[in-house]
This record gives sequence, C-alpha cells and structure tokens, in this order.
Amino acid sequence: MAGMLILIPVEADGALSKASSELAAAAPSFDPEATFGLFGQGAAQAAKALPKSAKRVLVVDGEAWAHGAACNDAKACEALIRAAGADLVLAPQHSRTARCLPLAAVRLGGRIDTRVAGVVQEDGLKIRRWYYRQRMQATLSRAERPWILLLETGALSGQSETGYDGPTEAVAAEASSRTRAIGTEPAVAGEQTIKPDADLLFVAGAGWTKKQSDGSTHVPEAEDLIRGFLRATGASLGSSKSLVDQKGEGAVISFLSHMNQVGQTGSSPRHPKGLATCCHGEEPHVVGWRFINERRAVNLDPNCGWAHGKADVLYVADAFAVLRKLNEILGAR
Ligand SMILES: Cc1cc2nc3c(=O)[nH]c(=O)nc-3n(C[C@H](O)[C@H](O)[C@H](O)COP(=O)(O)OP(=O)(O)OC[C@H]3O[C@@H](n4cnc5c(N)ncnc54)[C@H](O)[C@@H]3O)c2cc1C
Repeated sequence: MAGMLILIPVEADGALSKASSELAAAAPSFDPEATFGLFGQGAAQAAKALPKSAKRVLVVDGEAWAHGAACNDAKACEALIRAAGADLVLAPQHSRTARCLPLAAVRLGGRIDTRVAGVVQEDGLKIRRWYYRQRMQATLSRAERPWILLLETGALSGQSETGYDGPTEAVAAEASSRTRAIGTEPAVAGEQTIKPDADLLFVAGAGWTKKQSDGSTHVPEAEDLIRGFLRATGASLGSSKSLVDQKGEGAVISFLSHMNQVGQTGSSPRHPKGLATCCHGEEPHVVGWRFINERRAVNLDPNCGWAHGKADVLYVADAFAVLRKLNEILGAR
C-alpha cells in the first residue's frame, strides 16, 4: 500500500461538516497527490465541496449510508481505503468516524489514533496527541499500516479553493446493517445545546440561580434569557461545575447536564469566542477555556477570577440586564 486518503463522512443534509471542510481544504498543502474518499447519502454530489485541485475522488453513496449505522460505515471506509491503496488515512474527528474507523482499522490489520492534535513531517511522519487531560503533549509514530488518524480541528493548516468539478469513482461496499433509522431525538431535554462547530461558547455559571439584588432567585427568567440567547446566536452552551452540580437540588436550569461542564473535570471545547456569565472564573473552570481564543465575561464582581488576566474583557454588570438587552437587540434583527 502507498499513498494518502482523506476520508470524509457526508452529513444528513448532503453537506460537509465544518471540521470535514477544514480538513479537505488543508489536505492539498500536506499532500497534493492525496486521494479523497466520501461516504454517505449524496456523496457524489458533495464532492463539489472538495478542493478544485483534488486528483482522485472515490465515493460510497446511497441510502444505506444516510444514517451513519456504524457497521455500514465501517464497510464503506474499508472499501474506500482498499480502493485508494492508502497506507495513511486522515479523517475528521466526528461521531461517525469515531465509531466506524476502529472497526475498519482492525479489519485492515492497521492501527488507528483518535483525537490527533497535529501531524508533522519530522524524520518521518509523526503525530501529536494530548494526554492526561491535555496537560502533556506527546509526539509519536507507528510502523503499522494502514495508519488511520482522526484529526481534531486545527490539526492541519492550509487553505485551497473548493469547487471540485472532476469525475467521481463509485466504490462498491456491502451494507449489512439490519438497523433502520426511524427518526432522531435530541439527547438533552428537548434541545441540543452542545454545538462543537459554533463560533461562540456561552457559559452559564451558578450566579444565574443565586439570590439577586431584590433578595429572590429568578431561575425561570434565567432559563428564558439563556434559551433566547442560544436560539438567536446558535452559540454552544457550557456551564460551570457548580451550576450543573445543582441538578438534583431543586431550582436549576433544566436544559443543562454534566455534558455541558467546562473545566478541569469537564470538557475543553474549541470555539473562536467565549462569553462567561454569572461564573466566577476560578482556575478549575478556566482551564477548560484553553482553546477559546477571545474571552469575555459578565460578572457583578469586579474582582472575580476573570479580572485576573483570564478574560480579554470583563463587563462588570448584571448578566440578567445584559442578556435582556442583548436578546432585545438580536430579536430586532
Ligand atoms: C478538583 C476540582 C475540580 C473542579 N473542576 C471544575 C470544572 O471542571 N469546571 C468548573 O466549572 N468548576 C470546577 N471546579 C469548581 C470550581 O473551583 C468552582 O467552584 C466553580 O467553577 C464555581 O462555579 P461558578 O463560578 O458558576 O459559581 P460561583 O463561584 O458561585 O460564582 C457565581 C458568580 O456569579 C456572579 N453573579 C451572581 N449574580 C450575577 C449577576 N446577576 N450578574 C453577573 N454575575 C453574577 C457572582 O459574582 C459570582 O462570581 C472544580 C473544583 C475542584 C476542587
């Protein structure tokens, strides 16, 4: 085997996800001869979103690949990797690739590494991965082939013009899953609040549930304000630990779960901007902001943690008043 395959799942709407588009655009800078492989319903059509300069595009297309059944996806990926004769496979870190590519790696006798933060040519091909909750980064290589890498966003840099208008080669794959998708249901209280592709991370802290200047709590209003802001902006919702820990304690923000927690014992999401509200900005929370480029916070306390060099801008203000006004402005648009 020789050569590189860029393996990309097609979304339910026939488009490529932001992470997939980023990988496709960066791939020619890394290897101009790379083959592209698309799988999913509408894959042949989705090839138009690939770089204009793509040399070869393979597709597994059809209804059987519309819903991301892992065993069907694994068959599609295996067939694409074999057809491309690839010994290096780059795919975006994505719920579908994370489920199906380990299966394909085993069947091909190869190896897979997930959550790859960087790929470098340093005395041979090497990858960078974070360990110990992103405190240590290791550089490593493997001898086994094919080597399949699931890349985090930003792992490859480079841009290329999209609009591929060349031919696509259909690759045959067997769809063996007996599972039929009959619909989708959001996992979190009626609304999907975690959006890794969003431009903005909105963090809610425990202050939203605390007694305010009138001596009362205003949790239902807090819920309405936060929900209105999320709907108007498409922001992803993060939370402090103190807020999600209140889940079993009565008056809480109903659409939050531990999945939303950002920080040392939570997640470290990647978004260009972040806005923290009613959150103190203590180190165990802010450590989860390491991949947020521009940070702003709204807090009544001018001496809160964000004021100590952790935010670019701190608005010393009542977050209820700020969100009421912001929602009014966004609603008027
Ligand atoms: C081992 C360990 C691991 C931890 N891991 C995490 C983690 O992963 N993630 C995490 O978040 N925490 C974590 N913590 C907890 C962390 O130390 C803090 O206790 C927590 O982040 C505090 O949450 P908070 O800022 O929402 O609440 P609080 O500290 O109660 O702060 C509430 C803030 O709201 C402000 N406020 C109140 N009303 C308003 C208003 N109307 N307008 C504006 N501001 C207002 C107040 O001024 C206050 O600053 C960890 C702690 C430990 C010991």
